[in-house]
Amino acid sequence: MSQQHTNEQTRIYLSPPHMSGNEQAYIDEAFRSNWIAPLGPHINAFEQQLSSYVGSRGAAAVSSGTAAIHLALQLLGVGEGDTVICPSFTFVATAGPIRYLGAEPIFVDSEPDTWNLSPAALERALWQSAAAGKLPKAAVVVHLYGGMAKMAEIMDVCGRYGVPVVEDAAESLGSSYRGRQSGTFGAFGIFSFNGNKIITTSGGGMLISDDVEALERAKFLATQARDAAVHYQHSVMGYNYRMSNVLAGIGRAQLEVLEQRVDARRAIYRNYAEALGKLEAIKFMPELEGTRSNRWLTAMTVTDPHAEAVIGSLLESFAEANIEARPLWKPLHLQPLFKGAAFYRHNEQTNSVCEELFRTGICLPSGSGMSKEEQERVIGVIEDVVSGMRAKASGAAS
Ligand SMILES: *Cc1c(COP(=O)(O)O)cnc(C)c1O
Repeated sequence: MSQQHTNEQTRIYLSPPHMSGNEQAYIDEAFRSNWIAPLGPHINAFEQQLSSYVGSRGAAAVSSGTAAIHLALQLLGVGEGDTVICPSFTFVATAGPIRYLGAEPIFVDSEPDTWNLSPAALERALWQSAAAGKLPKAAVVVHLYGGMAKMAEIMDVCGRYGVPVVEDAAESLGSSYRGRQSGTFGAFGIFSFNGNKIITTSGGGMLISDDVEALERAKFLATQARDAAVHYQHSVMGYNYRMSNVLAGIGRAQLEVLEQRVDARRAIYRNYAEALGKLEAIKFMPELEGTRSNRWLTAMTVTDPHAEAVIGSLLESFAEANIEARPLWKPLHLQPLFKGAAFYRHNEQTNSVCEELFRTGICLPSGSGMSKEEQERVIGVIEDVVSGMRAKASGAAS
């Protein structure tokens, strides 16, 4: 940790863990029963409770969201030389497992209504893949910052081409689309319980599906793929990907307060939007009609000819005020790691939507434990920077 800060004010984090108080009781239970292992009663209960909350037939608790994506893609048969559709505007962990399996991502742009996967660009990518005689093995869809992607359109396009969907719902646990929970539309859905997510087990993930047999296979692969023999026998390569029973206990207590966490994050978003909505230069991430975002992070863009300079000043001012804020995800097709990868723009005639979002956007502190005073501090910084920019602009004009 940096000791440079002379600022007296306590640090405001982007999205810190928020315990309910019941976690300790579940941990104690794991210790009392000595189930300190990647199996045990908390695992079974956490899987059962999470799948009944989202409405899937089953679930497999694993060590991370990334591990869950890896298992989902492997179960869909992704392997050496294959391609997989992936949004460009996301965290690197969405695409990493594609490479783990020796496949290549085909990146697809965002569209402006949801900031998520563009159905138009997806359609073009699949049409061209089909014309070239090689369809992607799967399509990964992300619900960024909790906001739902256009699932009806995406499922329709993928259905027409027979490409199975994996929903990376790492950021959207508790979000819904026409009353249906995120993660339950695709062949598989995944959640993350990393420390910064809406609920956490410190680290962990969940794979969900209606295909109970596939989930059994996932659990087998996640425990070193040990065959049914008394001695240790292995026919296929597996992983050490199961969640620990101790952490599943934390997850159970966190799941009990998920609804409250969603309400708290949505209230923080509303407070930001009400206080800053009057500033013409600021636009918040839209919420598609008929959907409910968990507003994991409140994300906004600056509409200004000098948006990059405004974002730069905001980041600087937040740092000075001891507040953690971040630019929006840097598109993966711009990352050195994925140099040369295919990328399909939302509209071939205009600039890429996700590049524009990256250039003009920022995430605000959104932790469900944030106080009203802390929210006011964040709002104050934004008001100062934006009004300062206006003063500078009018000064330069006169
Ligand atoms: C956090 C996150 C992941 C990875 O989850 P881990 O549990 O950290 O492995 C994947 N995709 C997205 C969009 C995420 O935000």
